[in-house]
Amino acid sequence: MEGTNKFILNHEHRHCGTLIVNAGFPRTVVAVTQGIGACGKASLSSCSPKVCIVGSGPAGFYTAQHLIKARQDVEVDIYERLPVPFGLVRFGVAPDHPEVKNVINTFTQTAKHSRCSFYGNVNVGKNVSITELQQAYHAVVLSYGAEGNRSMGVPGEDLAGVYSAKDFVGWYNGLPSCRELSPDLSCETAVILGQGNVALDVARILLSPIDILKKTDITQPALEALAESQVRRVLIVGRRGPIQIACTIKELREMVNLPDTRPDMVAADFDAVKEALKDLPRPRKRLTELMLKTALEVPGEKEQERRSKASRTWGFRFFRSPVEVLAEPSHSRIAGIRLAINKLEGSGEGAHAVLTGEVEDVSCGLVVSSIGYKSLPIDPSVPFDSRKAIIPNTMGRVKQAAGLYCSGWLKTGPTGVIATTMNNSFDTARSLVEDMDSGTLDVSAAKPGSQSISALLEKRGVKPVTFSDWEKIDNVEMKKGESSGKPREKLLTVEEMLHVAWT
Ligand code: FAD
Ligand code: NAP
Repeated sequence: MEGTNKFILNHEHRHCGTLIVNAGFPRTVVAVTQGIGACGKASLSSCSPKVCIVGSGPAGFYTAQHLIKARQDVEVDIYERLPVPFGLVRFGVAPDHPEVKNVINTFTQTAKHSRCSFYGNVNVGKNVSITELQQAYHAVVLSYGAEGNRSMGVPGEDLAGVYSAKDFVGWYNGLPSCRELSPDLSCETAVILGQGNVALDVARILLSPIDILKKTDITQPALEALAESQVRRVLIVGRRGPIQIACTIKELREMVNLPDTRPDMVAADFDAVKEALKDLPRPRKRLTELMLKTALEVPGEKEQERRSKASRTWGFRFFRSPVEVLAEPSHSRIAGIRLAINKLEGSGEGAHAVLTGEVEDVSCGLVVSSIGYKSLPIDPSVPFDSRKAIIPNTMGRVKQAAGLYCSGWLKTGPTGVIATTMNNSFDTARSLVEDMDSGTLDVSAAKPGSQSISALLEKRGVKPVTFSDWEKIDNVEMKKGESSGKPREKLLTVEEMLHVAWT
């Protein structure tokens, strides 16, 4: 970022026919320059480069942050489908990981910057098209994340009792579209397909003691359902082996130490693992060592006692792919899952699973498919790679679409933590700034920005939620939480959110 700033300080920018020497000047200086320029009565606002960002998750906010810092003249508007900001930081990150949500403080600073505006409750692709945004802004950055999920593509996956992790997580985190999910937790065994960090989040939430969860911002209906849950055993199933597992060590350690639970692994799954250990890169080596210790070592006396008293179990099941979700005789809900038994071809992290032809049936009453999220196209005018489920781009520049950029999971696919998303969003912002500085992106003609979009939205009966409207929602949620010893009690419907925002 520092490098980019230096670059800008040494350049000149021409806007609306006005020469602005040193675009790094603070806003007031630029305003004086523009006042005597060819813009006549136009305000600073009508002359400055205008960028709009679609989506207010980490990608949207980190892109905005970098743009605002890198150029002192850029104005950024963020459009968000929901009345509330922050994307998966609010609706994905597990309620028992409050420290991760501290990034919201940085996003709030960005949202409150004099050159940034937030327009919630605006569904881009429905309420306003990308073409309309492109007409109103010099550049449009698409950062609307990955709101779909990969499907297993096996018979029975639509049966009652089968949920995508996306919906299950959305349910316990208060995503309005998942409010009605009410998952049936009356069974003893749950199977989670996939072994990434989302799978471990779901396993932990299913097995955590209620006394831990009730101090988090998990929704009240989820808390009540989990308090009544009969789930005592969670199997986390992966198509490959321990060396290829997708979760990270912190999340595994949390499982190992989860109160009132004990691990239940299959020792044979680790047969070839010890020998491979020495060749693994360090983070994977440490992760694998923890798995080996958990699966094979006899624990010390204290840990043995803890495990013997535990009422719930969890375990990894490796080399298994879903083949079919099995139904009860009435066909109304699930009775189990048929898993193909795999062997590995190749070695190390890149080894792939090959069917052996054998299968195994596991009885269970709940299946959560956690095999990844998936971005979806929102506007037919935007190029979309359906196979990779991303927007085709080079360093965030959308291919064959001048003035259009993308960042976050929409740009890279649905992997990576918030820090990864931050870096890829900064990269996109750098590309955009480079294009403005080099003239590849023409910002010389004035653009109306939010003025024209607000008029369009008004005509269509859509009223945006501002950032200060969101702060009203935020206050109400925190007050509601206070009375029950939680950091917040989330509002669960768009209607409730809008009611609080506008009264
Ligand atoms: P998102 O966060 O999904 O943001 C996209 C935004 O776009 C949303 O606000 C959405 O409402 C909005 N949007 C969608 N469609 C439209 C539209 N048509 N018009 C306008 N707006 C739209 N990372 C960590 O570092 N730590 C964790 O603990 C962690 N936990 C996670 C838990 C889960 C369950 C998941 C799925 C991910 C987790 N991650 C975690 C990863 C992290 O959440 C992602 O790296 C990050 O959220 C990706 O950011 P994004 O902005 O691309 O997408
Ligand atoms: P992920 O890490 O990519 O894991 C996906 C899992 O699904 C893998 O085990 C994968 O196995 C499996 N899978 C994919 N396709 C499959 C198929 N067709 N059949 C069977 N299994 C399949 O994705 P995620 O868990 O959704 O997490 C997304 C990102 O968010 C990750 O980067 C994650 O680290 C991050 N996140 C972080 C945290 C945290 O920091 N606490 C919490 C949640 C999420 P293969 O490896 O064999 O493909």
